[in-house]
Amino acid sequence: MRSLVSQLGRALLDFALPPHCLVCRQAMAEAGEYLCGQCWAPIRAVRPGRCPRCSCPGAGAVCTNCPSWELERVLVLGDYAGPLREAIHLLKFQGHRQLGEPLGRCLGLAPEFAESLREVDLLVPVPLFPARQRERGYNQSLMLARGLAQVLEVPLCEGLLRRRTATRQQAGLNAAGRRQNLAGAFGVVGPLPAHTCIGLVDDVVTTASTLGACARTLEEAGACRIWGLALACPFLRRGGESAALP
Ligand SMILES: [Zn+2]
Ligand SMILES: [Zn+2]
Repeated sequence: MRSLVSQLGRALLDFALPPHCLVCRQAMAEAGEYLCGQCWAPIRAVRPGRCPRCSCPGAGAVCTNCPSWELERVLVLGDYAGPLREAIHLLKFQGHRQLGEPLGRCLGLAPEFAESLREVDLLVPVPLFPARQRERGYNQSLMLARGLAQVLEVPLCEGLLRRRTATRQQAGLNAAGRRQNLAGAFGVVGPLPAHTCIGLVDDVVTTASTLGACARTLEEAGACRIWGLALACPFLRRGGESAALP
């Protein structure tokens, strides 16, 4: 209820005030972009020298962090920090679903992934459990997938994966606990198209346990190539201490 009131307050404020950046609140000339140029700049910045497997910045070659990820590749736009982190919070927790498509387009247009992304032929958003989706009103991963589908010009299969069980929050669980928590959580609905490279779309990837559980489900149903496509990963906090989930 409180979040509804704050969303309503924010919507009223947005209506009464001239267009302003949703992240830094700075006034803007046009409303259509949602974020100002200064906030979009680091989100759209080219990040060269990525690990080809997990996208972690600066490695240039396959890094030491990614072997525990179960997917063949995970393409991540950027670090879970700064304006990208703020934008994801607005999208996930503050009802700003309209940010999903432009953020998805940013990932689809990232020059360092241009060649790899041409291999993806189908997009599948990570589903939310129906009760969670009703509470939020939308699935943020679907919003991102729509933006990606626009720029990659590939089909989007919204209902292919279904969440069968409500899972506990992953935060605070170790790798085995996360796997256990997600066992049987997803199901495939309908036939899988053959010989496709499926791009599984998620907002934030931390240990890739959700993407891994989705990928296992799709593999059991016959899919052969599954990649993760995500907006952000807490790369800088990965490694030693376990990164906190958003
Ligand atoms: Zn701004
Ligand atoms: Zn890596």
